[in-house]
Amino acid sequence: MILATQSSQHWAGSSDGAGATRQKQAFNNNDADAPIYSTDEFRMYCFKVMPCSKRFSHDWVSCPFAHPGERARRRCVRSNSYGPAACPDVQKDGSCPRGDACSFTHNVFEFHLHPQRYRTQWCHDGSKCTRKICFFAHSLEELR
Ligand SMILES: [Zn+2]
Ligand SMILES: [Zn+2]
Ligand SMILES: [Zn+2]
Repeated sequence: MILATQSSQHWAGSSDGAGATRQKQAFNNNDADAPIYSTDEFRMYCFKVMPCSKRFSHDWVSCPFAHPGERARRRCVRSNSYGPAACPDVQKDGSCPRGDACSFTHNVFEFHLHPQRYRTQWCHDGSKCTRKICFFAHSLEELR
């Protein structure tokens, strides 16, 4: 009955409501662990790098894209060419005077998803690993 009520509102209501419903459905298929977002290429170069285009409020943590002011945001490793080492200033002070120009990684995603580190080591949990996004390898195919 609830569904029937919603769909009658959907057809009778504004186009805004219909658009939000469609976007929400698309988002549900677009979690960070969805197959298209699980490739090495996406994880290393796009995950939390590409700006999110969703125009409705949603859970940033499970969204694979970057959001304004999000701490998990990564700089593009191709255009910023930072190395895989953690920034000593961020470790010491929590911030870095070099900002985006710094040649060290600034958060756990920049550190673990760096092309020189991502899935180059074995996951300690192996086949029992339940992480949605694991930075380590579980099989020879995953090992880079
Ligand atoms: Zn998002
Ligand atoms: Zn830094
Ligand atoms: Zn794992």
